[in-house]
Amino acid sequence: MTTISEPELLATLKTTFGFDHFRAGQLEIVETLLDGHDALVVMPTGAGKSLSYQLPAILSANKTVIVSPLVALMDDQVAALRQNGIEASKIHSHQSYEENADNWLQFANHGAKLMYMSPERLMQPRMLEALKHQSVGMFVVDEAHCISKWGAAFRPEYEALSQLKTLFPQAQMAAFTATADDATRRDIAAKLSDQNCKVFLRGFDRPNLSLAVLPKEKLKDNLLALLDTKRGQSGIVYCLSRKDVDDIAATLNGAGFQALAYHAGKDSDYRRTAQNRFMTEDGLIMVATIAFGMGIDKQDIRFVIHASLPSSMEAFYQEIGRAGRDGQPAETILFYGTQDFIKRQNMIFDGEGDQDFKLREFKRLEALIGYCEATTCRRMSILTYFDEASAPCGNCDNCLDPPTVEDYSVQAQQILQAVHQTGQFFGQAHILDVLNGAQTAKIRQRNHHDLACFGALADSPRAEVKALLRQLIATGALRVNLERYGALEITQSGAQIGQGEAAFMAKKPRAAKTTAPRKAAKTRQPVDRADEALFQDLKALRLALAQEKNIPAYAVFHDAALRDFAALKPQTREQFKQVNGVGPKKLDLYFETFAAAIKQHIG
Ligand code: ADP
Ligand code: ZN
Repeated sequence: MTTISEPELLATLKTTFGFDHFRAGQLEIVETLLDGHDALVVMPTGAGKSLSYQLPAILSANKTVIVSPLVALMDDQVAALRQNGIEASKIHSHQSYEENADNWLQFANHGAKLMYMSPERLMQPRMLEALKHQSVGMFVVDEAHCISKWGAAFRPEYEALSQLKTLFPQAQMAAFTATADDATRRDIAAKLSDQNCKVFLRGFDRPNLSLAVLPKEKLKDNLLALLDTKRGQSGIVYCLSRKDVDDIAATLNGAGFQALAYHAGKDSDYRRTAQNRFMTEDGLIMVATIAFGMGIDKQDIRFVIHASLPSSMEAFYQEIGRAGRDGQPAETILFYGTQDFIKRQNMIFDGEGDQDFKLREFKRLEALIGYCEATTCRRMSILTYFDEASAPCGNCDNCLDPPTVEDYSVQAQQILQAVHQTGQFFGQAHILDVLNGAQTAKIRQRNHHDLACFGALADSPRAEVKALLRQLIATGALRVNLERYGALEITQSGAQIGQGEAAFMAKKPRAAKTTAPRKAAKTRQPVDRADEALFQDLKALRLALAQEKNIPAYAVFHDAALRDFAALKPQTREQFKQVNGVGPKKLDLYFETFAAAIKQHIG
């Protein structure tokens, strides 16, 4: 058992990180690691994984090496630790030889107990040799799913980490990830641990995030209308390609929004500046590919919009997980259309990896399609996927405005007939044209106007037929054959519907909406108007301090702490210390500056 009691751990939490209580799951993980067990922790982004290993690392007599895949992430973590008076070292490729050498010396001479490193650095023979003389008690592997080929983002440089358990048999292993299904979890545990590894799997629900899916039609118009309801808020718009990012960012800027474009094609200076601006300024919209987001610790992101379909359920959940980390309501909206599904499907099957891998990736994508097409609570569809029990949430579009499910067997039969009569040879656009009775060159060329199905659904709006077609694909009645350029093919279940042996129940298509239904605004923290002004002043002060020190703003204080300052207006050191987020180090660093600002405000 841990020799450190819970009250003692709480006291240390306050004196090191300034926090008053643990978040769900943290205490159990801290205790498990202090007991010397291996652990695999799967918790969503923003749940507070870092602290769960940092605290045991600080309390341990031995040293801890933390493997992290991203330079920016290491920099931010170390900056945040130092703000709390905790020394930590980091070695990575963006630092000079001298800086890396200094960091090593600090670690070797017991100036720092924590060392952040990339997997490549760690696994260099010289580094491994040097670490053997450093009484390393624990290895922490962040983004641990990267070690597994079963996982959502395998990285070859992670593979070598599986040697650690043999190279350092006395050290304990702690693996952290926000995303790992059952197979991936078992794989991570087997690769990193050979003792019994305790698995923590929890807290996937993020009730403050609202969930909605909108049809991807007239994307730019709908996006602008949607964003118009969110002026002044910070948010992310995710796009599939760099070109889309540049294009949408330009559109938003043209419409008077403040948008930044972010993707891997921009140089690193630009990216760093854009990221810093997003972290520190209010009301910016980051239009980005998935290159943006890892390690972003901005608490007050109020919305995450997907302008196109993410690659999998895992990716989607990780991306929306960046919203609302402060626990306040935040919106997530996904624009979904079949074209994107086909594009994603193409990317998987044209991509790298063996057939098995591709099929698994496709399953992850299908799970997301299930989410998009869900007619019942969307949160339940996510949580079920992550093995967590749940009930209807009341904070998703389907809960707030339940879709009507109706019998569309007749229309489905017409659609399937059209696919059948044209020889299962054409993609959805042509099938829609045929059903619509359109006069296109392709139709004339193939004499498709002579078919019985020609014009069969001419009375229904095209968007409605398209929605039904999409649902036929999503439910597996029709298959998109990528080898045949997206030709639609009828599956066995489709044939049953086509022959009237099975009914086709589907969501009643509705006129495209630009906004998702919303829950009545939840009560925010009670900050009155006067306090709001103080809150803004304190934010500006925080920004100035962060810029001066070249650290992220949240490393000075989180928004939640600033809100408390604005509400409580602490003027003595004792009062200041009461606020969640103020530890002794930050008290010393910031009391005078912030107290002066508060005093000035009170006048
Ligand atoms: P994860 O690694 O799970 O994505 P982090 O460790 O980055 O999440 O934590 C997210 C944010 O929550 C950080 O800003 C962190 O300082 C804050 N946090 C963590 N634990 C607590 C706590 N017990 N009380 C208040 N804030 C916390
Ligand atoms: Zn719901």
